[in-house]
Amino acid sequence: MDKEDIKYTPMMEQYLTLKKDYADALVFFRLGDFYEMFFEDAITASKELEIALTGRDAGAKERVPMCGVPHHAVLPYVQKLIQKGYKIAIAEQVTEPGNGLVKREVVKMITPGMVIDEGILDGAYYNYIGSIIKDKSLYHIAFGDISTGDLNLIQNQKEENLIKVVLQLGLKEVLISSNEEKLENELRNHVLVSYEEGYFEHQLASEIDFTPAKAVKRLLNYFKQTQKAELLQFSNVNVINEEDYLKMDLNSKNSLELMTSNKQRKNQSLLDVLDHCVTALGSRKLKDMLDRPLYNQSQIEDRLDYIEALRSDHFKRDDLKKALQGVYDLRRITTRIASQNASGKDLAQLRQTLSRIPLIKITLNQFSEQKLTNFSNEINDFSSLYSLLEKAIEDNPPLTLKDGGIIKKGYDERLDELKDLSINGKTWMTNFEQMEREKTGIKNLKIGYNRVFGYYIEISKGNLGLVQDSFGYERRQTLTSSERFITPELKEKEQLILSAGEKELALEFELFVELRDKVATYTKDLQSLSDQIATIDVYQTLATASIENHYVRPSFNQKNDVFIKEGRHPVVELNTKVSFVRNDVLVKQGGILLITGPNMSGKSTYMRMFAQIVILAQMGAFVPASEANLPLFDAIYTRIGAQDDLAGGQSTFMVEMKETNEALKYATKNSLLIFDEIGRGTATYDGMAIAQAIIEYVHEKTKAITLFSTHYHELTRLEETLERLKNVHVTANEENKQIVFLHKVEEGPTDKSYGINVAELAKLPKSIIKRSNDILKHLESDKDKTILLNLFNFDDYEAQDNQQVLTSELELVVNRLKQVNINELTPLEALVILKE
Ligand code: ADP
Repeated sequence: MDKEDIKYTPMMEQYLTLKKDYADALVFFRLGDFYEMFFEDAITASKELEIALTGRDAGAKERVPMCGVPHHAVLPYVQKLIQKGYKIAIAEQVTEPGNGLVKREVVKMITPGMVIDEGILDGAYYNYIGSIIKDKSLYHIAFGDISTGDLNLIQNQKEENLIKVVLQLGLKEVLISSNEEKLENELRNHVLVSYEEGYFEHQLASEIDFTPAKAVKRLLNYFKQTQKAELLQFSNVNVINEEDYLKMDLNSKNSLELMTSNKQRKNQSLLDVLDHCVTALGSRKLKDMLDRPLYNQSQIEDRLDYIEALRSDHFKRDDLKKALQGVYDLRRITTRIASQNASGKDLAQLRQTLSRIPLIKITLNQFSEQKLTNFSNEINDFSSLYSLLEKAIEDNPPLTLKDGGIIKKGYDERLDELKDLSINGKTWMTNFEQMEREKTGIKNLKIGYNRVFGYYIEISKGNLGLVQDSFGYERRQTLTSSERFITPELKEKEQLILSAGEKELALEFELFVELRDKVATYTKDLQSLSDQIATIDVYQTLATASIENHYVRPSFNQKNDVFIKEGRHPVVELNTKVSFVRNDVLVKQGGILLITGPNMSGKSTYMRMFAQIVILAQMGAFVPASEANLPLFDAIYTRIGAQDDLAGGQSTFMVEMKETNEALKYATKNSLLIFDEIGRGTATYDGMAIAQAIIEYVHEKTKAITLFSTHYHELTRLEETLERLKNVHVTANEENKQIVFLHKVEEGPTDKSYGINVAELAKLPKSIIKRSNDILKHLESDKDKTILLNLFNFDDYEAQDNQQVLTSELELVVNRLKQVNINELTPLEALVILKE
């Protein structure tokens, strides 16, 4: 159906014109109390939202597909759609209903990267949108969260790493130039991509020379155009210099379970162990710190000093936590105020937040630690802003802006007068009702109000006979059981009351906007306050976690040696039923630890423990060990676990090799490399050969500190040729043919692999265990390692084995019966033995 040729109703024409400019968005078109969607939008939305698809007569022969959601409950629908990656354009009625067609305009775009409304955001997370710009052969990425006003810039990224960086930053949406088709195709699989359109690029080209700044400017413009508002919340750009941080790629962060845990285990990430934040501000900051540990000792020591200071007094730390309670998401409230989206409720929450500041300052001072006193002194307590809000804003203002109830009595004289007038009006009505009852003798006479007729006198049918002409009542409306009248006096008063009420609401709105704009001038200061609160909340959290879990302060050395005594894995130690076995990590500069030991003994846990201790130390936190002296690492590269990228069509081995390549390509002698069983994804000799070559390469060329676990026992002999390679093994014992894991890491290679014991633990059929043992014995004795080629009869073995089990059970019964002395048995004892 060609929409152009059909004559639609004026409203539908209005819709179609508007929709043209928002072709890639779902247009929520305001019709009275509903947002309606039409045509394709309606079909899509009804499917995604599981709401009814209806139709609307719009002038054409066929009804136009339509679906709608009530305007007062729109948030959950919007949320659902943006989570599914749609953009939404909200078209509001911008003129009052009256004669002719109401004007409608798109007042706001909501996209996955662009959400301000509190109801949709998860306080603990950022909601970043990025803008990528090409500069010669490299790319710059600006990314910002419109709800917090955080704006960052990362420069000089290689094309091949772009997708990785986008994923790593957790961007929800990305803006690119319209000539970047290849990039678009790659990005589309991961995030929502939007083009920055023509005229703006032009304008940019002439205005700005510095390409990274263009990325920032473009992002801001996109925000501005879609939000249709000035964006005061973006008060500065944070340029992220990657050299200042410990580098970790997304894959390492995931496999080390920093933020999210694998294997559907809930609450088992490092973040879960650390996060005792009281405020959403703190939670976001903690994620930032975990996401980007530092590579600068003095910055690290500075954080550690704060934590040390906060550890000094348990009770005062509790007081601090209490003081932080009741602090709202100040950063986002500030944004709503700056972007003119704030409600009275936001100002009330700001007031509540500011009311906590004096207490926060006092509790910090009470530690009597110089560092905390200085921090406290730097916090501005905003006392005059607080007093202003206290004087102006009602205790519980509503979310709506135009229905009154926001401004307190005593704030503005004109408003108070109008309020008095409407209150007086109400008293006048009550008196008037009383007077009319007396005059007419009608006890149930009532004064009522509705929008069409205004104030009226209502008299029930049975009492109509009592109404006399001399009363001057004029009939206005007849209902089944009553009649409604007015009098000139009533109408005159009505005029006064209504205009006072209207004026009151209008003035109240005006005062609110004035106040909100005034608060908006504090944007930058309130953002600094948010950052201060976030910072102190994070230090508080890290101090709390370090005490609860018995962590120590790490120290650092320039020799590039690792010295960890009695280290523990911060997450596993809280989740094992048995007590965690502590292990040392001792490696010298450029050293390689080759870790052997049976499956399930704890090789992987040991390596992850080390990585997590390093990450904690470099984010400036205490660490789970009795002592830790560490180098400063510039990067951590890991190859852990078999995470098949099946969706991407890559085999385990291919993924393994690609990740290994990544590590070898970028690692320096200051990096940390962690390789878990490299080579197990392919045939034995292949795998072993590759593993050996990689170890040698790292030892001779990269010279990075490396932990390498392997089940190739043969590799332990590399100790003979590689001087900085050291064998360690995770111990296990065999008791009554059962394997017992000791999880203790000791020097030297493991003596045995215990693979068959583990198979037995996993309850593989006994016949297979027997056969494996036979084959193993053969392999161990045969120097040519030829395969054992006799036929084994599994059925016979199992029958024999069953027979054995049966005989041994029979023997038990007979022996037990022989012990019984029938002459001394009571009847009850006899029954018990029978049951046995
Ligand atoms: P591997 O890598 O050798 O196959 P893992 O590191 O996966 O073994 O460890 C297997 C399990 O053993 C872990 O899930 C953990 O529960 C337990 N474990 C490992 N190390 C320790 C330890 N030091 N103390 C206590 N339990 C441990």
